[in-house]
Amino acid sequence: MKKTTVVSVKDLKKTYFMSGGLSQEVLKGVSFEIDAGNFVAIMGHSGSGKSTLMNTLGCLDRPTSGKYILAEKEVSKLSDDALASVRGQTLGFVFQNFNLLMKRTIADNVSLPLLYQGISKKECYERACQMIKKVGLDGYADRIPSQLSGGMQQRVAIARALINHPKIILADEPTGNLDSQTSDEIMGMFQELNDEGITIILVTHEPDVAMYAKRLIRIADGVVEYDGSVKDYFVKGNK
Ligand code: ADP
Ligand code: MG
Repeated sequence: MKKTTVVSVKDLKKTYFMSGGLSQEVLKGVSFEIDAGNFVAIMGHSGSGKSTLMNTLGCLDRPTSGKYILAEKEVSKLSDDALASVRGQTLGFVFQNFNLLMKRTIADNVSLPLLYQGISKKECYERACQMIKKVGLDGYADRIPSQLSGGMQQRVAIARALINHPKIILADEPTGNLDSQTSDEIMGMFQELNDEGITIILVTHEPDVAMYAKRLIRIADGVVEYDGSVKDYFVKGNK
């Protein structure tokens, strides 16, 4: 079967420019391609640029230079509106701190990405309920986040990420605030989504979490230090 490349970055560089003339080059030329259906863990020390890379892959931030092709479109050549549209159709996001609106219901949170698409309230609610059920929270649509445990809140965030049927889910340390059992449950859910064909790109500090992935990309000093099988990396005794 022919493989489809969904993400391709070439010589990606990112420099942050601070006031007072200071600057910091965080990504110094990162290149890789990711095929549809892969499950990739991105690791690296704190401050190594993982979130910077994820924000770039998520089109939330633009690189200083380099080429980024997402779902066959060259991101740097898109206007802000076109970029927002590609992002909405292609990507779902999951963050460490869940990023839920605490005063809104679970259904409102999950249907948030549909808000500007001119979809009726009724359809938004129905679609949200389907996703809420999919992540195992049937019956919770009308609750608010503070009535749910951390693991359940992360499931809500996953339901929100899924509402537009994304090709790719980008998850930045999604288990960072969860205990190990809940973390395993959430990773099991990512594994199921990957089995359904969704490409997963996940940042983590934890080897146990990374082991759910197929491929590992390690970032160090702004470049790719390792790119290969997760199992090979940890079997060789790396930490
Ligand atoms: P990681 O996610 O691997 O911990 P980050 O990508 O968050 O790393 O940060 C990499 C480096 O870039 C850090 O030194 C951080 O302080 C710096 N950095 C991140 N975001 C910004 C920003 N918006 N402005 C300036 N520096 C930043
Ligand atoms: Mg980070």
